[in-house]
Amino acid sequence: MKKLEHIGIAVKDLDAAELLYSKLLNTNSYKRELVESEGVITSFFMVGNVKIELLAATNSESPIAKFIEKKGEGIHHLAFEVEDIQKALHEKKEAGFIAINGTPKEGADNKSIAFLHPKSTGSVLVEMCQEN
Ligand code: ZN
Repeated sequence: MKKLEHIGIAVKDLDAAELLYSKLLNTNSYKRELVESEGVITSFFMVGNVKIELLAATNSESPIAKFIEKKGEGIHHLAFEVEDIQKALHEKKEAGFIAINGTPKEGADNKSIAFLHPKSTGSVLVEMCQEN
């Protein structure tokens, strides 16, 4: 893993969360992006060289809707940047981690992403991402 790339935070109301995090971080969201395939709308903040990714569901089938239903709002995942997502996914599977995605998929922010199951990572959902 090269570095912590972003922290994903599940929120119910993206407008309200953007206001809250603007006040908290003293900076405004610099972009919103819809990830249609995931049923998610994202909003990004930059803090130093780490991003905060707010995630709101666009429908009730969205993984974010299900997460909030179960656990409420809050930290959803940690995302680490990797050089080569295919290789990283393979290595982590070899090392015994459980991959949620068999192959990497397209995520927000022009990245290929793959998730590791919290069951295998001490209850933290871990995203690996590679800049496209
Ligand atoms: Zn993410």
